[in-house]
Amino acid sequence: GSADAQYDVLVLGAGPGGYSAAFRAADLGLKVVLVERYATLGGVCLNVGCIPSKALLHTAAVLEEAQSLASHGISFGEPRIDLDAVRAYKDGVVAKLTGGLAGMARARKVTVVTGIGQFVDPHHLSVQDAQGKKQTIKFASAIIAAGSQSVKLPFLPDDSRVVDSTGALLLSSIPKKMLIVGGGIIGLEMGTVYSALGSRLDVVEMQSGLMQGADRDLVKVWEKMNAKRFDHVMLDTKTVGADARGDGIWVTFEGKNAPKEAQRYDLVLQAVGRVPNGSKIGADKAGVAVGERGFIQVDKQMRTNVPHIYAIGDIIGQPMLAHKAVHEGHVAAEVIAGQKSFFDARVIPSVAYTDPEVAWVGLTEDEARKEGIAVEKGLFPWAASGRAIANGRDEGFTKLLFDAESHRILGGAIVGPHAGDLISEVVLAIEMGADAVDIGKTIHPHPTLGESIGMAAEVAEGSCTDLP
Ligand code: FAD
Repeated sequence: GSADAQYDVLVLGAGPGGYSAAFRAADLGLKVVLVERYATLGGVCLNVGCIPSKALLHTAAVLEEAQSLASHGISFGEPRIDLDAVRAYKDGVVAKLTGGLAGMARARKVTVVTGIGQFVDPHHLSVQDAQGKKQTIKFASAIIAAGSQSVKLPFLPDDSRVVDSTGALLLSSIPKKMLIVGGGIIGLEMGTVYSALGSRLDVVEMQSGLMQGADRDLVKVWEKMNAKRFDHVMLDTKTVGADARGDGIWVTFEGKNAPKEAQRYDLVLQAVGRVPNGSKIGADKAGVAVGERGFIQVDKQMRTNVPHIYAIGDIIGQPMLAHKAVHEGHVAAEVIAGQKSFFDARVIPSVAYTDPEVAWVGLTEDEARKEGIAVEKGLFPWAASGRAIANGRDEGFTKLLFDAESHRILGGAIVGPHAGDLISEVVLAIEMGADAVDIGKTIHPHPTLGESIGMAAEVAEGSCTDLP
């Protein structure tokens, strides 16, 4: 039985899903233990994901923007890059946030146990710390938030010049020539950082386009603006082998755009996706069903097949995004506390924090076409935005899709600097069931990039007034 459990809730894994669940459960009066194998809280996102990558992307963006000032009449000398200091800035950002989480856990009286957790039965988890010491924790309910890790290609050699995103974030050196294996968001974000610091890039992608899932019109703008970074963009092509030699990693390719000869790289980043940690937590001992690929299935209240055990975040499936994990964490905690919460988000936004940023939410134009959904489109090119022109960055656009009959908003796509910040308004509009008039008649401050959302809605309504 669970009546004599030490904790009301055990949370396994302290990423965005896990810490959000633990904090919400504690706020609702439950006694909570948070088990994490790493010394710091925050999981992949804070330690080796979202946050350190954005710290470096900020450095990269400011550097490139400073260089672009030449066309505004201001020029600087060659940048002097102190890589130790670049790293220190990034590490400082991470430390501030993980330290903040530790303080929040203390303030809420959440017990943090450091070590690797494994279920031993449906009400016990054993935790082994770095010294090999074991303890067993008894819980009434559990939330599995053990996350995911990057996929390793078996034919890539075990060599310090072959890295995953975690290795790339270490920024050990600036390679002259870098290969990105996998043209998704994570690979392209890291490529942006290295390119700004001086690396030449190649990218190889098995599928026929970069940033799968994004509206193709967005990607076209991104490709045009980023062409200068790449020697080769190899679509419909895969890496089939690699050889670590003294002078570099020699990689061979196969497919539509494969070079005939092996190519030499100073650094190879593998960014071909992430696999859930579901098969490594002793889930079977607790009776929790784990799918073949390591994902755990849950219902809309985040419950697994074992009613008192919940799962959230990357471990339950796509999209593997921090903001999804956070909301799922809140639902799981609230359900355990007896609330009638459900995960019923209409949409989950995606953002590539590249330059320009690429952000999209809800229905894309490609999907509308494929599924035969009749849409009304509102496209506002930033070439008509006073603010974008003043910023010297008018390559972007804002596109909104509305249901042709009800005029309700179904999706949004934005490419341009700050697209990731701008997309939130579209997400809110979708959640609120706004129609084109609602958005078009909302007064947006002028001159801002956010105006482009109001204007796109007016374009869809056929009432655009051409505000410069
Ligand atoms: P995780 O963050 O993976 O945390 C799981 C935790 O569980 C880890 O700390 C792990 O150590 C711990 N754990 C696992 N097994 C055990 C065990 N047996 N015992 C004890 N502890 C265990 N998402 C975004 O939304 N925006 C971004 O900009 C973004 N950028 C990213 C950049 C990179 C380079 C990467 C790799 C990912 C990025 N992501 C981004 C994805 C994001 O990091 C994940 O979606 C998010 O971290 C998932 O949260 P989670 O709580 O499910 O799990």
